[in-house]
Amino acid sequence: MTDSALIELVERSNRIGEDPSLVVYGGGNTSAKETFVDHLGRAQQVMWVKGSGADMRGSVASDYPGLRLAELIALRDRGEMSDEEMTDLVTRALLDPASRRPSIETLLHAFLPFRHIDHVHADAICALTNHAEGRTVTLAALGEGFAYVDWLRPGFELSKVVGELSEYEGVVLAHHGLVTWAEESDACYQRTIDVVERAREFVAANRIAPGRPPRHEDIPEDELRRLLLNLRGAIGQTGHRVLRVDSRLRQVADHPQVEEIAAGGVSSADHMLRIKPRSVVVGSAASARVDVDEYRDEYLAYVERCADRMPEGYSVHDPMPRVALVPGVGAITSGGTLRDAEIAADIAAHTHEVARTVLESFGSPEPLSEADTFDFDYWPMELYKLTLKPPPAEFSGRIVIVTGAASGIGRGISLELAARGASVVLADLDASGLDEVGDQIVRAGGAEPLTMAGDQSDSAVVDTTVHRTVRHFGGLDGVVLNPGVGVTGTLTELTNEQWQTAMNVNLTSAFALTRASMQVMQEQGLGGALVYVASKNAFGPGAGFGAYSVSKAGMVQLMRIAALEGGKHGIRSNAVNPDAVFDNSKLWDGGLREERAAAHGIAPEELEDFYASRNILGRRVTTADVAQSVAFLLSDRSSRTTGSVLAVDGGVAGAFPR
Ligand SMILES: [Zn+2]
Repeated sequence: MTDSALIELVERSNRIGEDPSLVVYGGGNTSAKETFVDHLGRAQQVMWVKGSGADMRGSVASDYPGLRLAELIALRDRGEMSDEEMTDLVTRALLDPASRRPSIETLLHAFLPFRHIDHVHADAICALTNHAEGRTVTLAALGEGFAYVDWLRPGFELSKVVGELSEYEGVVLAHHGLVTWAEESDACYQRTIDVVERAREFVAANRIAPGRPPRHEDIPEDELRRLLLNLRGAIGQTGHRVLRVDSRLRQVADHPQVEEIAAGGVSSADHMLRIKPRSVVVGSAASARVDVDEYRDEYLAYVERCADRMPEGYSVHDPMPRVALVPGVGAITSGGTLRDAEIAADIAAHTHEVARTVLESFGSPEPLSEADTFDFDYWPMELYKLTLKPPPAEFSGRIVIVTGAASGIGRGISLELAARGASVVLADLDASGLDEVGDQIVRAGGAEPLTMAGDQSDSAVVDTTVHRTVRHFGGLDGVVLNPGVGVTGTLTELTNEQWQTAMNVNLTSAFALTRASMQVMQEQGLGGALVYVASKNAFGPGAGFGAYSVSKAGMVQLMRIAALEGGKHGIRSNAVNPDAVFDNSKLWDGGLREERAAAHGIAPEELEDFYASRNILGRRVTTADVAQSVAFLLSDRSSRTTGSVLAVDGGVAGAFPR
């Protein structure tokens, strides 16, 4: 048994996948044909082809299902065939029924009689085709050896058309890409590279002398933050997303004809799956909401005009843009996580650079016709790729700041929120503790957090934390105010300094964070949720623990005022009252454990059990218990709850909320 062609195919595809000017994120496909001896010892002609949605970069053999070639070629004499029927018939030819679904372009590979075939969505090829003179320019660039096929959505018809072109050296597909072939794998790769290079050189030779590229003035930082908040507020009307600033598209965004570039649409049709058919151009913070509303209205009007083409069982996609081109900034892209937003930016960088190249080499870039755009935008075969992704997590696209995040309750809350898909900002004085929590989140598959080491009882540090959050993730949805220092001593013993420390760390810092957070939440206009981690002591104080108890009682009152003032902006404010949470907590270090144990007349190591025996349920309270309650109060599941206190103390009658 030999599978050397498959090994060559994977190796070649990996090389192609490493070059984003050829393919990005699952675009394009490759194949190889050979005689293969199956599990029953039968020798037969087999074609390996890339699976639907598989990314060539880093792909492995299982990404390339094998098919019995004779059963594919037998389909060639059919007249018309729907996508569903084609998918069904192609699936029946699989060597292994458990393989991933083969590419929608499988038959195109099968109908060409070559051992190795590459199909890439190369930028340089799309630059040749995406304008009124595409056919003429492609002929001039690549010569008679290359066939030119006007836009045709991938499927049976395109496969038959391309299958008839085997006397050429390759095929250029307008608004789509390139198909090339060879008998040897290396020669096939080399052919792809050579043709793309010829296209690139031709485009460059035709480019108008760039002169001094126009440059829009940099947008000042505070204006950029306002722009992010307004943009996020506008696109967040249909769901929360994080925003990411990308300067790679600065030259496109600063271009005097940026509107024309955006109107050129996507360079290769499959890009619209990730970044929609168009991007929005946003002028300033002041215009962001109007610009996005106009984009949304235009998108909905386009869907309305094409309503009779809507496939059964489908409805309008989210009408908000994925990519905003902003002069003086570059691109601002959106997604459930920063990584998703980065993928959108990677694709946008290629798509819009192609349109800019077209504009500067051959005149106005032309998108697909509206009907063709719609047929791709709402193509079930392409949308199938989205079903391969896990459904969005509960807090996908939500941005939450957690203070005191390096240990104890704050750490537990941060891990829980990240596990539920939140983009979290971890703030604490303890930098190495923050790094540990950050690593733990990433190892568990959570979105990369932003860490802010600093003293959050300093209001300047608090303002910086909130500003950097907006700059990094685009906005703010939730804040967990979890400062905590346990200051002990009777009122006759406490020094001014000790009292002040408890107030500063536990209460004044919470005020500063409340103020800064509510300011940005109000500007953003998506509401928000504040959760104060107070204490059972707020309602059930302890002798010898006055400074702490007063600070936590003040925090509950602060929470109520925030609820009163935030309500009309949709900002909810609630508190949790935990008691005696020990795991990972630093609160008990520095003598507090010994002091409290002495106050109750027990040994320090008996303290956890003592507290557990004291509550009504007779159970220890853990950081995970507190984290569940905080997550509830941050989520839409508590959307009608504000100004309330949720006790997480195992039940302490003397501290029932009131
Ligand atoms: Zn393609």
